[in-house]
Amino acid sequence: MKRSNSEKLYKKALEYFPGGVNSPVRAFKAVEGAPLFIKKGKGPYIWDEDENQFIDFCCSFGPLILGHAHPDVHKNIVDNLSNGTTFGAPTKLESELAEIIISRNPYIDKIRFVSSGTEAVMSGVRLARGFTGRNKILKFEGCYHGHVDSLMVNAGSGLVTFGESSSAGIPEDVVADTIVIPLNDVNALEIAFEKYAHELACVIIEPIPANNGLLLQEKSFLLKLREMCTEHNVLLFFDEVISGFRVAFSGAAEYYDITPDIVSYGKIIGGGLPVGAYGAKKHIMQSVSPDGPVYQAGTLSGNPVAMAAGIAQLNICSKPGFYEDQEMRTKTMVESVNSYAKEKGYDFKLVTIGSIFWIAFADDTTIRSASQINTDMTPFKKLHKALLERSVYVGPSGYEVGFVSQVHTKEVLENAAQQFKNALDEVFG
Ligand SMILES: *Cc1c(COP(=O)(O)O)cnc(C)c1O
Repeated sequence: MKRSNSEKLYKKALEYFPGGVNSPVRAFKAVEGAPLFIKKGKGPYIWDEDENQFIDFCCSFGPLILGHAHPDVHKNIVDNLSNGTTFGAPTKLESELAEIIISRNPYIDKIRFVSSGTEAVMSGVRLARGFTGRNKILKFEGCYHGHVDSLMVNAGSGLVTFGESSSAGIPEDVVADTIVIPLNDVNALEIAFEKYAHELACVIIEPIPANNGLLLQEKSFLLKLREMCTEHNVLLFFDEVISGFRVAFSGAAEYYDITPDIVSYGKIIGGGLPVGAYGAKKHIMQSVSPDGPVYQAGTLSGNPVAMAAGIAQLNICSKPGFYEDQEMRTKTMVESVNSYAKEKGYDFKLVTIGSIFWIAFADDTTIRSASQINTDMTPFKKLHKALLERSVYVGPSGYEVGFVSQVHTKEVLENAAQQFKNALDEVFG
């Protein structure tokens, strides 16, 4: 495969950006070669600067649930673009997008648009603290909530620990109020609540943890978490930046039928443009400025062009059967690949929920917590290369999940399944 144009562009980008990229997950550090520089995308496909065509399962790490350059999204962006791009004053588009969301979402009465998932989570945590008057937050090992200072933490060595900063530049003081426990562990949850419940503003979780592999939780664990938060007056914060509008219109809350107190959204909500949001019931959202004392603002928040993209995308997502269809197509591909791997005795499994899948090099164990992830990424590296050579693009890390869009048709996915099988033969052969 010719990659010389990408290699040239990478060399140039290295002069300007740390690692040649504007977000570290785009670098090919964990796999081979230079990152592919993408020239264009259409439907389920992307083309790199060397004119190689790929079936794209990265989908910008989640936002593109309708694939690339969907005609409706494109049209609504262009229609609104000529009116100007930002005003610092309200537009009707903000309420239009909010109405599409809130009229179908029983978990939130009010929403605030921001410009990224990170910003949504950061603001939601501030709201939880401001509303409860408590400082501590509890998070789970292996859940990613954006690069928010207080949530960039690793677990310490015990069952219930205070976080240890996982990035330079974050003082230990900033994470001193963050408690970390393992996922899917009722025992750890009970110990943490016994010790800290009265000081906790919120428990934050990715109800479908999908940033560190796909660590599907037992529903009973999520229910227990809901029950304990209610009992101790602790807010339950679902970070649905990846699962919102992905596994169901109202995210994992709807999928599992569990009601959170605060929710954050991002990725899909902006139709491929930068939008994040946080929302809650009225009595909680009343605390947000200018109604209440929790300050949060944004020059480009509710940006009209981004709102237009979100409106077009979510209008399609809200059609009956949309999510069932996504899930069915994904399942067919996953089952086809998995039964092949099993038949061949390969230590491999695609783990799936909704239209998300994760490449796991483990045969039939269900991995539910970060500590169970095997850290040897050698087989992933081989598979990534073998897939690229077969025109299938997945994110360049074994911890990233893949996404299926509305335009990854049955035929596209049959082709992809075949390429997966051939690539597995190469890896294990
Ligand atoms: C992607 C993601 C974020 C961060 O969103 P950005 O838009 O990248 O800032 C936060 N939480 C979860 C669960 C995510 O998947």
